[in-house]
Amino acid sequence: MTMFESLGNKLQDILDKLRHESKLTEAQVKAAMREIRMALLEADVNFSVAKDFVARVTEKAVGQEVMGSLNAGQMVVKIVNDELIETLGGQAKQPTLKNEGNIFFMVGLQGAGKTTSTGKLAQYYKSKGRRVLLVAADTQRPAARDQLKILGQQVGVPVLEVANGETPAETKRKLEAHLQSDYRDLIIVDTAGRLQIDEALMDQLADLKGALSPTETLLVVDAMTGQEALNVAETFESRIGLSGLIITKMDGDARGGAALSARFVTGKPIYFAGVSEKLSGLEPFYPDRVAGRILG
Ligand code: GDP
Repeated sequence: MTMFESLGNKLQDILDKLRHESKLTEAQVKAAMREIRMALLEADVNFSVAKDFVARVTEKAVGQEVMGSLNAGQMVVKIVNDELIETLGGQAKQPTLKNEGNIFFMVGLQGAGKTTSTGKLAQYYKSKGRRVLLVAADTQRPAARDQLKILGQQVGVPVLEVANGETPAETKRKLEAHLQSDYRDLIIVDTAGRLQIDEALMDQLADLKGALSPTETLLVVDAMTGQEALNVAETFESRIGLSGLIITKMDGDARGGAALSARFVTGKPIYFAGVSEKLSGLEPFYPDRVAGRILG
């Protein structure tokens, strides 16, 4: 069951129970919040994130006079919905784009969907009239570079490859030389990933980031990773520094908690959601629409 379904079910119960109440007592709020917390945990939201969420909703709900035409149940649902939108990021946000010199630096664990998302972004921005260049910067895995080359061909954008063992300074020079002969206003760099976070990878990414000075650093998070998403997001944020998130595999049977946890722990906006394996399967992330699904 997804976060939205389980929260939706619980909220429906709360609505039914509190339908005839005109004021929220502390005991009622507490009982409702137990249900909400359970729904979040079932949806793989990290424990401390769920606890914090519930604390904020409780603070807003206790002693709240019921407004206008709403009954107590509708009031709780409204507060939960508003807080959910807030926790997912409030207003929808997009990466910042200048007229030129945009560099997106893609990071994430292997298998998260980083290379696929790089191809999707290339297609998305190409269709908006951007001149895109992809950089295959996994200096260790030729297969990862080949995968990006194929995506580049499909989208119809060039792919600059780094060589095995190339240093960040060399990559930077190569990129500058390429741009001299073939002008591009958006460069998207697909970096190396590992199955697990390791120190060597983090050092390598930090060095490359330092050399390239990207305008956006985007963490690609697999929605299916559940609890682990918090740890991954926290580590990348502290070691590399992030400006935004892309949550992939939102089409799968993921319970959705990863999105909430990653956003919460980094405080960075979720720019896009991956919704299929296809190059067209990328959508801007709208917190209000996502939260709105809960109430049907
Ligand atoms: P990377 O190692 O992080 O570069 O991961 P890949 O881009 O190679 O993706 C790993 C797998 O996830 C591939 O089979 C992709 O087709 C799949 N994938 C990536 N994004 C999505 C998505 O949004 N939805 C679905 N269903 N599959 C995805």
